[in-house]
Amino acid sequence: MAEVKKFKSFLAEFNETCCRIGKNPKDITILGASKGQQVDSIKLAFEEGIKHFGENFLQEAEQKISEIGNLPTWHFIGSIQSRKAKRIASLFHWVQTVDRLKVARKLNENRPQEMEKLNVCIQVNPDNEESKSGVPLAGTKNLIGELAQLERLRVRGLMSIPAPTKDFEQQRKRFGRIRSCFEDLKAIYPQLDTLSMGMSEDYEAAILEGSTMIRIGTNIFGARN
Ligand SMILES: *Cc1c(COP(=O)(O)O)cnc(C)c1O
Repeated sequence: MAEVKKFKSFLAEFNETCCRIGKNPKDITILGASKGQQVDSIKLAFEEGIKHFGENFLQEAEQKISEIGNLPTWHFIGSIQSRKAKRIASLFHWVQTVDRLKVARKLNENRPQEMEKLNVCIQVNPDNEESKSGVPLAGTKNLIGELAQLERLRVRGLMSIPAPTKDFEQQRKRFGRIRSCFEDLKAIYPQLDTLSMGMSEDYEAAILEGSTMIRIGTNIFGARN
């Protein structure tokens, strides 16, 4: 099938890239950004070794997760409307797009006791783009301090979608600023272990700058519906 081929060629390319730049592919989690993709494609990717998937829309995710089940690790990577926080808190293993305390509190209150703590990342908006959600880098320290006190959450790190550019050096520079912020936070909160940055077009620059999780849609699944 075309999808499997696409997928295998991405994995080969990813391994080759890691090798060329001196990174261990095992240190980097590949998350399949599966919005707009069919359940069958996600199952195939899972069989081929992708264990993490990210969904952007709650309703779509509810349907897919009820069909596919909880063997994969499910990440919410879309923007969070606070009235949906309750359902998000009981459906996902991770929420990568926390950008305000109000939402974090709702996730915390609604994380069912019988489930493990909800893993969360703060979404940052390093270039202060108006069209994007996320906290300015300077605001991360405060927010992490607040999140660390919420009992049902486990703060893991930062997630970012920097302003797109085709210029490799610019990509590196942008990811580098996020990494340096992450390092500063880690000095205070050593439990932080996740830097989620890099997508199909810029993942090489991201892993060069220390990304631990890349979110890949197009390069794994092909164009989405
Ligand atoms: C869709 C999406 C991706 C993947 O984008 P591609 O360019 O298709 O790899 C990554 N992160 C987020 C938050 C997304 O919404």
